[in-house]
Parts: sequence; C-alpha cells; structure tokens
Amino acid sequence: MIPLKFGKELEFMREAGRISALALKAAGEAIKPGVTTKQIDEAARRCIESYGAKPSFLGEGGFPAAACISVNDEVIHCVPGERVIEYGDIVSVDVGAYIHGFHGDNARTFACGEISDEAQRLLEVTEKSLHDAIKVAKIGSRIGDIGFTVQNFVEKNGFSVVRKFVGHGIGRSVHEEPSVPNFGVPGSGGLLVKGMVIAIEPMVNVGKEKVRILDDGWSVVTADGSLSAHFEHTVAITEDGPLILTIPY
Ligand code: MG
Repeated sequence: MIPLKFGKELEFMREAGRISALALKAAGEAIKPGVTTKQIDEAARRCIESYGAKPSFLGEGGFPAAACISVNDEVIHCVPGERVIEYGDIVSVDVGAYIHGFHGDNARTFACGEISDEAQRLLEVTEKSLHDAIKVAKIGSRIGDIGFTVQNFVEKNGFSVVRKFVGHGIGRSVHEEPSVPNFGVPGSGGLLVKGMVIAIEPMVNVGKEKVRILDDGWSVVTADGSLSAHFEHTVAITEDGPLILTIPY
C-alpha cells in the first residue's frame, strides 16, 4: 500500500523538503579542507533545528547523526566523525528534515576545491542522471522507466549504478513503499500515480557496481576502491508533472 499525499499533506512535505534542501546547502558551505565530517554534520543539524524541524536520520535504525557524510570511495551511510576533509576530496552529504509529520530527503556530492577530471565527470553524470530520471517521474510512467533512465545514461558514460541500495517512497516515514531502483527495464514495475512522493537517488561508481559494508555496520564503500557519487531529490508526482520538493528557496 503506497500512501498518497494531497493538499495540506503536500504543503507540509514541501516545507520538509525546503528545510532538507537548506540543510544540504549549509552542509555544502561548511565543506573546506581541514574540517571534520562531524563539523559538516553540525552545520546541517543547526540549520534544520533553526526552522523548528528535526533531522530525519537521527535515530533512524539507530543512526547517530543528522547527515550521512561519505568521502571519495565511500558511497552512502557513513557516520560523521573525526575524519578530516582534504583538498580534492569529493564529499557526499545525505540529509533529511522532519516537520509537521512529514520528511524530506536529499543528497549531493560536493567537490572540495579542484578535483580530478574523472571525479568532475562522475559528479556531472550522476547529477544529470538524476535530473533525467526526474523528468520521467510523471503520471503514467513506471518505476522501471526511472531506473532505466538512470542506468542507461550512467552506463553510456562508462560508470556503474549501485544496485544494493535504492531510492524509496517518502512521507510520514522517511522510507516508504515503493522501492525506486537506479536500474530497470522500461515499462516494467509499479505505475506512478498522482499523489505519490518518491526519493530518486542515483548512486554511481567510477568502477564496478559492487559495494561492501564496513565493520561499523554503516559505512558503504565501493568494493574496488573507486570513487562514488550520490545525488538525490524528493519528487512529488502531480497533474502538472514532477515537482521537486527539495528546493532551498
Ligand atoms: Mg533517500
């Protein structure tokens, strides 16, 4: 059963999305050589709390921070701590905010200073795959159309999509039905209908798709040590087409 959102619920989700986006922006602005991932997390958390919202991920499955901050070959879910950001790192921040009973969720990979050409291309390809996928997130499309759009573009560019982790529905819970994979077959999977809200979140590796989870039980890293990027928006399916809720206005 997929919970649909209309009217006031969508307005609340818009507010949750807006705060999530502002927190992501604040985290991005905190990234510079010499800061710890914990300091970046604190910037995101302060922003969320300044709007009277709560960090969606804090306590989710026992997660101990507001944001997941994953560097270079780290894919997702890394716990902020004493790791120091260096010039040339790529830093993925995933953060959500909860307010009025609803969640927002978004992610972006930031460059710290000048990065390699390959890293730059990875960021561009991943972000473009997200925006291409958002364009097909409309009434009458299927979940497989979203996945295919991401996968096709990413693989054409010589990179690979992570399959072990996927996007998701979002609303009163941060993770709801349906699952939204970043791979798929056109015309397959569940139908997108008015009122659905989904988090589309391509995770893209320079090397192979395989990932592993470190002993801390959280950190997901590429198995081959290659760089990884992650971009995410919360998107509502509306009569007027896809509506991105995670905009920092
Ligand atoms: Mg998500």
